[in-house]
Amino acid sequence: MKFDSVIMGGGLAGMVAGISLQQEGKSTAVISTGQSCLHFFSGSFESLAEPSPRVAELFSQAGIRLHYQKGVRLMPLGSFQESALALEDIDIFPTPQFSRRTLIVNFMGYHDFFSSFLAEGLEKQGIQCRIRFINLPELEPTEMARGEMRPVQIARTMDRIWEKAVQEIRLLLKDEDTVILPQVFGLQDISVPSRIRQALPARVVFAGTMPPSIPGIRTQMLLKKRYQLLGGTFLMGDEAVRAHIHDGVVHSIVTKNLDSHYLEGDSFILATGGLFSKGLKSNPFQIFEPVMGLDVEYAEDRNTWYNPSFAEKQPYMDYGVKTDENLHPFLEGRSVTNLYAIGSLLGNTRPELGSGAGLAINSAFAAVDEILRSAQHDKED
Ligand SMILES: Cc1cc2nc3c(=O)[nH]c(=O)nc-3n(C[C@H](O)[C@H](O)[C@H](O)COP(=O)(O)OP(=O)(O)OC[C@H]3O[C@@H](n4cnc5c(N)ncnc54)[C@H](O)[C@@H]3O)c2cc1C
Repeated sequence: MKFDSVIMGGGLAGMVAGISLQQEGKSTAVISTGQSCLHFFSGSFESLAEPSPRVAELFSQAGIRLHYQKGVRLMPLGSFQESALALEDIDIFPTPQFSRRTLIVNFMGYHDFFSSFLAEGLEKQGIQCRIRFINLPELEPTEMARGEMRPVQIARTMDRIWEKAVQEIRLLLKDEDTVILPQVFGLQDISVPSRIRQALPARVVFAGTMPPSIPGIRTQMLLKKRYQLLGGTFLMGDEAVRAHIHDGVVHSIVTKNLDSHYLEGDSFILATGGLFSKGLKSNPFQIFEPVMGLDVEYAEDRNTWYNPSFAEKQPYMDYGVKTDENLHPFLEGRSVTNLYAIGSLLGNTRPELGSGAGLAINSAFAAVDEILRSAQHDKED
């Protein structure tokens, strides 16, 4: 199978690259093992200070609504974190004192939403809180096995019965100006969070739950849908295992499922993520890139890889594949000229491209521009 570009990894970086290349008329395939960092996404795009028109357009065409405001967002345990660009249903407040009185609503039997921690955090900001539970028969163990009281199962049900939940919340509301609900709305029907906001006579804030993240899964699904609508080939549940590389050029990729059918391309993008997603791996002696054995930037002394203080920044988060100025990675000191490394696989080796979601998006755009520029160059020659 031959494509213009083959992309390994279907997280944020891989999907942004795939969508952008398809939009430019290139044929691409995305090899995706499945779960990515988006399944843990807070909904806030780290290090994207301003939403560039390119970012806004790509997300809006995929049906993902963003908003931008510098301020703070509420974290699942009641603390606040600075934020600027976020999904539409993630609130950003100018200050943590966003309410006078808040009603925190949870569902009976749902333990992955930390209402009492939220109340504790908000009360530190001078916000009075009341916690109430609602009991919906559709969420009872007979309807949904207790072990399944997880965000995805609840969100699927809530897409159907959100109006019933709203009626219950209306009855509970007294003099509160704000209602806080778990982020379990709008998994498949993206309009649900804003319809809930319109239906209640108080400000509605959706607060994070234990992973997986419903806004993150929705983002992943919408990016994939947009990519496929543009004609992209999405190889779900497959894994890039090896590459044929000769004289600094990648010729094809071997995957777990396609057996002896290699994926050939003019260019290749490696967007397999960092240590969290197994785009990088470690053993007692080294940190390595498992698909191609690319050169990785990391400290030789293993004792310095992590900080024993769990809450501190961990050095291993900075390690990543070494690249030249055009994001071509190095293999035994030599750059691979039709391969691009993007996203969290880069660690903090390219700080000028940002961090977190910002790095994923900026590096994807940078690789796409370079691929288009070199294709144009080849055409002119
Ligand atoms: C738990 C967690 C939460 C985060 N939350 C946020 C947040 O809220 N905001 C923010 O800005 N940043 C966040 N980040 C930072 C995150 O790195 C970026 O936001 C971004 O989503 C990373 O995208 P990526 O595509 O580079 O990597 P990933 O999301 O890791 O995607 C890589 C994908 O490639 C797949 N893969 C790996 N090996 C192979 C292979 N051999 N073949 C095929 N596929 C393969 C992986 O399974 C994965 O699906 C978070 C990071 C983590 C670890």
